[in-house]
Amino acid sequence: MSAYPGNGLLFGEPAGTYLQVALNTPVRRQFSYSLPTSMGSVEEGMRVKVPFGQRSMVGVVVHVDPHPPANVPIERIRDVYEVLDELPLLTPALLRLGRTIADESYCSWGNVLAAMLPAALRKNRPRRTVLVVELVVAKALDQEAMDGLAKRYPKQEKALAYLAQAGGPVDVRQFLNRTGLSKSPLETLAKKGLVRFTRRQDVLDPFADSELIRDKPHELTAQQKFCVDQLVHAQKYQPGLGFLLFGITGSGKTEVYLRALEESVAQGRGAIVLVPEISLTPQTVSRFRARFGEVAVLHSGLTDAERHDQWAAIYQGRIQIVVGARSALFAPVQRLGLIIVDEEHETSFKQESVPRYHAREVALERARLEGAIAVLGSATPSLESWYAAHQDGGLKLLELPDRVAGGSLPPIQLVDLRQEKPEQGHWMVLSSPLKTAMEQALLRGEKAILFLNRRGYAPAWQCRSCGTVVQCGTCDVPVTFHKWRRRAVCHMCMGEFPEPGLCPECKASQVQLVGVGTERAEEAVQRMLPQARLGRMDRDTMIRRESYEEVLEAFGGDKLDVLLGTQMVAKGLDFPTVTVVGVLNADTALHQPDFRAAERCFNLIAQVSGRAGRSERGGKVIVQTFLPEHPAVRHAAAHDYRSFAREELAERKMFGYPPYSHALRITFEAPELAKVEQMAQKAGTSLRAIPAPHCEFLGPAPPPVEKIRGRYRRQILIKAKSKLALEPLRTTLFELCQKQGIVVDRL
Ligand code: ADP
Ligand code: ZN
Repeated sequence: MSAYPGNGLLFGEPAGTYLQVALNTPVRRQFSYSLPTSMGSVEEGMRVKVPFGQRSMVGVVVHVDPHPPANVPIERIRDVYEVLDELPLLTPALLRLGRTIADESYCSWGNVLAAMLPAALRKNRPRRTVLVVELVVAKALDQEAMDGLAKRYPKQEKALAYLAQAGGPVDVRQFLNRTGLSKSPLETLAKKGLVRFTRRQDVLDPFADSELIRDKPHELTAQQKFCVDQLVHAQKYQPGLGFLLFGITGSGKTEVYLRALEESVAQGRGAIVLVPEISLTPQTVSRFRARFGEVAVLHSGLTDAERHDQWAAIYQGRIQIVVGARSALFAPVQRLGLIIVDEEHETSFKQESVPRYHAREVALERARLEGAIAVLGSATPSLESWYAAHQDGGLKLLELPDRVAGGSLPPIQLVDLRQEKPEQGHWMVLSSPLKTAMEQALLRGEKAILFLNRRGYAPAWQCRSCGTVVQCGTCDVPVTFHKWRRRAVCHMCMGEFPEPGLCPECKASQVQLVGVGTERAEEAVQRMLPQARLGRMDRDTMIRRESYEEVLEAFGGDKLDVLLGTQMVAKGLDFPTVTVVGVLNADTALHQPDFRAAERCFNLIAQVSGRAGRSERGGKVIVQTFLPEHPAVRHAAAHDYRSFAREELAERKMFGYPPYSHALRITFEAPELAKVEQMAQKAGTSLRAIPAPHCEFLGPAPPPVEKIRGRYRRQILIKAKSKLALEPLRTTLFELCQKQGIVVDRL
């Protein structure tokens, strides 16, 4: 027996401890390390700090072996630097779940495991304070000085303008994200004494102060009881089962969740409730708090420290119920019994960065792995779930067809915008039926919600003579005019441009503003109903963390009569005095170049309608549209989900779109057009050369947005008969998506 030079390990003897570590790199394999005896022992699911090239990285141990790996020369195996945990942070089930997600979303196991851990643990650096920035005086500069600054230092001017708009301290990370700026203009402004940075202690629980709504369990209706019984039964006898709870808004789905959760907790089992980020309001959270006391709340607005604390409490079993947005799905809940995905049709459940998973599918998978049950709930189920609940796709259908309060859904009136006199250069923001309904409601002391899915003042600028629409240039999208900034803003890259004046194409004519965004709608409503106290809720007015709650409080109290906004007003709000809901233009969703556009349009109308008539006062919904005959609009107005689903599914079937296929989209991106075309052609050729009889290839072709942030794009679409049909392509797909500028995603 001879000591092997290099590692101080014995050669030929199984005396060491060898680890397979999953690292957060795109490379689809694990890395081998050895554990020095001085570090004691390590278990799967613990984090370790390891050397990686010249750097060090934090990774997760996925396998422990007394024998050195066969495929790596032993002298190349390096020692772990440090074991970071005393207990595993990821359970064996979560490790396996991560593996499945990696395989299905075309990324590495390490990518997924990193995404499962709260950021503070990922980098091993818990953050206890947040950096905020604010103006030193309420208004930093007068208009003239701002204009001067804009000429020489447009980024500084932009930063000042947004800070003034925010009206208080803003989390720097969020600020940069919203404005598309880097930190340096802020730093320059700080040197000039115009803004200041401060560190603010993390609020450890952002919902802690929110008023606790007392919420007594209701006597269940017969329909609710049937649903709860099914869930309780399944939890005992049918582990792994998935349900679709289809119930109109106000039908008492949440009450069903609460009862099922009570039962789980009574059985000593934990639960996860996923809600869309946007409806993760104090209102939602307090319903769960009121019933269960301590509930962990995980959402993207949390700082690392907050997230870390909540996570630790769950991990140690101090808290059994987790409510949160998408990533809460990975909470290390002990003895998991129930996963609820509320509003399961929401697009925010799909993650659009690595790992590109869909929370709905992962919820079902995790339930299967851990012997829990999963409940997908919605008033407007995704067509995937609807299909799965009908075509033997493994979901069991539960229904709540009536509103609990006995009341029916508010009637929806369609207003054909073609019949309304247009306003100067755009459609009528408040048609006469909507205006009248609002006036009457206001007189009775009731409130209205107005929804428009477009922010900014006007979504486009168009030449009067040649029809050219002014584009960003860096991106292949029209710019939006923001009046408060007096600039055109690209919503893709956040770039700002001066007002164009003459058409950049024909130079013969002035360009004019086309269309209406929330900012312009606000102006119009204010003009038509000067007595209404109006609040606007969109990304431009909700810059600070607290803004959202402030506006909701003002609306819930007696400070605002009308709430006008984008999606932010469409979901989850429950104000009994709201009796009028207006959808200012239902067609915006339909104009998206996406096969799910009709589904989204239907959902939006249904969701936003659900905000009206939530009390015995009743209510009405007015939907303005240029396309009153469109099936999505027509069926939504009739509250007829089934007919919509039937027609839309027939269409999907005809074109082979999901759920009738398992579709992948490969996106290629490069700074030069020739380069991206070549990349896409090459990939297309190698994919088509593989015998895959049940796959159909489309493209490469230019996507709807051909250029983003100066990078040209091409796409290939693969429609496979099933997940299995993709199997022959697997290796090639994995090779592709490890390359720069190539993204493989599910459709
Ligand atoms: P959904 O989640 O389907 O929109 P909710 O669970 O929010 O519906 O219920 C709508 C309203 O009805 C809530 O105010 C809730 O407190 C109330 N509610 C729910 N179930 C009952 C019941 N069985 N009896 C009386 N009120 C109920
Ligand atoms: Zn742009």
